[in-house]
Amino acid sequence: FRHGEASEVVVPTPNGDVYFGENHPIVVVAGPCSVENEAMIVETAKRVKAAGAQFLRGGAYKPRTSPYAFQGYGESALDLLAAAREATGLGIVTELMDAADLSAVARTADIIQIGARNMHNFSLLKKVGAQDKPVLLKRGMSATIDEWLMAAEYILASGNPNVILCERGIRTFDGKYARNTLDLSVLPVLRSLTHLPIMIDPSHGTGRSEYVPSMAMAAIAAGTDSLMIEVHPNPAKALSDGPQSLTPDKFDRLVQDMSVLGKVV
Ligand code: PEP
Ligand code: MN
Repeated sequence: FRHGEASEVVVPTPNGDVYFGENHPIVVVAGPCSVENEAMIVETAKRVKAAGAQFLRGGAYKPRTSPYAFQGYGESALDLLAAAREATGLGIVTELMDAADLSAVARTADIIQIGARNMHNFSLLKKVGAQDKPVLLKRGMSATIDEWLMAAEYILASGNPNVILCERGIRTFDGKYARNTLDLSVLPVLRSLTHLPIMIDPSHGTGRSEYVPSMAMAAIAAGTDSLMIEVHPNPAKALSDGPQSLTPDKFDRLVQDMSVLGKVV
């Protein structure tokens, strides 16, 4: 069981240091599933920044179920994220899938995301543990809490103390109405087990944009430190995860509603 104080993860961004942790305001990470082109990523960055987000998310390397589905634009998408960072000052969160891309991703990202499918990729975890950028570790879709914490331990034991845990929904027996079951009960459980900051991702957690606002509010009520929300300027045309993406307008409304609960930056 947990010993000691909550740890904080401090992430430098062009707009200033952002603090993740129990004793800080809620940090909001928002943006499209995939980086599609310069106009859409820069426009989305401006909109989510204006709404109150501190980080832009966007995938350059996409872990798709089908090898025939859009796989992300890779290194050229990293350049577009850098342009969006330059235009807005937002920090960048993007996924690393392959250790061969570590130096390119680390050059662009302020936080390196390890996706649900790689939570058990121990050699990748050791590699992000042996470098300096903070790591966002998503829960494997069928991972127990102990397995997830041990995956985090791989990063910590390799020398990187800056790990944020992200719940993104677990496999469910009823996929008809939601893609996954968002496990908000991890919030009190993790609080009792770990000092690490916690993020909730209601977008992948539900798979449906209409369920995202209520689950984001519930995550705040249950004490989350941060949220990840997928936002796309035209969800119907998105190359990935359109059905779970909020429009910038809906995201703006959600952040206003979240502020009523008090702790959002
Ligand atoms: C993502 O964040 O776009 C993603 C692929 O998430 P997950 O690894 O949780 O499926
Ligand atoms: Mn996605």
